[in-house]
Amino acid sequence: MTTNEELYQRGLQVIPGGVNSPVRAFRSVGGTPYFVESGRGSRVRDVEGREFIDYVQSYGASILGHAHPMVVEAIQKAATRGSTFGAPTEGEVRMAEEIVARIPGLEQVRLVSSGTEATMSAIRLARGVTGRDRIVKFEGNYHGHSDALLAAAGSGVAEAVLGTEARPDSGGVTPGAVADTIVLPYNVVPRLDESVAVVIVEPLAANMGLVPPVDGFLAGLRAECTRVGALLLFDEVITGFRICVGGATEWSGVTPDLWCFGKVIGGGLPVGAFGATAEIMAHLAPLGSVYQAGTLSGNPLATAAGLTVLSQLDAAAYDQLSATADTLAEGLRSAFAAAGVPAVVPRVGPLLGVFFGPGGGAAVEQPVDFATAAGLVAVGRYPAWFHGMLDRGIALAPGPYEVLFPSLAHTAEDVEATIAAAHEVAATL
Ligand SMILES: *Cc1c(COP(=O)(O)O)cnc(C)c1O
Repeated sequence: MTTNEELYQRGLQVIPGGVNSPVRAFRSVGGTPYFVESGRGSRVRDVEGREFIDYVQSYGASILGHAHPMVVEAIQKAATRGSTFGAPTEGEVRMAEEIVARIPGLEQVRLVSSGTEATMSAIRLARGVTGRDRIVKFEGNYHGHSDALLAAAGSGVAEAVLGTEARPDSGGVTPGAVADTIVLPYNVVPRLDESVAVVIVEPLAANMGLVPPVDGFLAGLRAECTRVGALLLFDEVITGFRICVGGATEWSGVTPDLWCFGKVIGGGLPVGAFGATAEIMAHLAPLGSVYQAGTLSGNPLATAAGLTVLSQLDAAAYDQLSATADTLAEGLRSAFAAAGVPAVVPRVGPLLGVFFGPGGGAAVEQPVDFATAAGLVAVGRYPAWFHGMLDRGIALAPGPYEVLFPSLAHTAEDVEATIAAAHEVAATL
């Protein structure tokens, strides 16, 4: 039998850091990553035969849980018909119809292969439509790893650069690439001017822990963008098809000009999408001057998986996800309270996060922006919490800026076991 350590050591020889996406390397929690042998429903099993109740769920890409039988069957069937053609397929049309039908105000989408591609393409489109250069993003919001968006990007990037003054916040990104990127604090409506092409925002921030928008933030952005003729872009790569049927648009009542999607809509396969009104989307090639393309875009296996997932996501499904998240959040709060561990457990619908505080009797305030989130992360309690839970068979994301992703496969027993483990771990913190 192979071990996690053996695979990790082999990986380190041939893959930088042994992983294909940095957060997987456990750098911010320490230790050796577990290598997944298989997953089923709420569970993953590692190569050593240990089973975990999994709240990573591919950072939200697996909303039905792992290896859902309907998704597996859809992918298998699609594969027998051929996995990519370089010609359009019915699945792409159906997928676009299903996405557009759910999101108020959205008229057309283009499918891509990742969230990164979606945001990168949407930014280019916004610049092409407005003829302006500057983009506004918020500190601690993550929008994938295209050059112009790698400034104060939260999540795995925050782990990499915290404590440095790096701007841009990745090597290899030229100052020129981010020269037109303005980074501002989340939850404060900025005053814009007519040089701004687009304001990109996570409408419910979930890459600096869970940080909900304060009252008036999204509506304020909408009004300010409209005032100066800038476009408003909701990056819904996490929130889209996760928080409710109509995503952040329905949830907040604020309608942006551009949307980006990913994660959930791929059903575990590589998919992203960006969209807008038909008028805005007409600026894209082949109709307009903004070029954007992809050999595997609208891939038949991915659309088959995505369509199957979307078919399961009705209002009842979101009620179930929210109820699961609520029970879990309540349970974690009571575990921390019982042990006297200072913490806040924000929950919005199906999403929840955990922030630990410094203690000393002071109540922990829910963070409202990256500075306040980072202040709590700097207290440094997350690694002990993470490893305590992992040792008890509960897999959380190996980074303090990530949220928990309960799936439709998580049962009441899973949640109960998670809360029981949390009580044990909290007592040791
Ligand atoms: C994950 C994520 C992305 C990037 O998506 P990838 O598929 O990893 O490229 C972009 N925006 C948000 C909000 C995300 O959470």
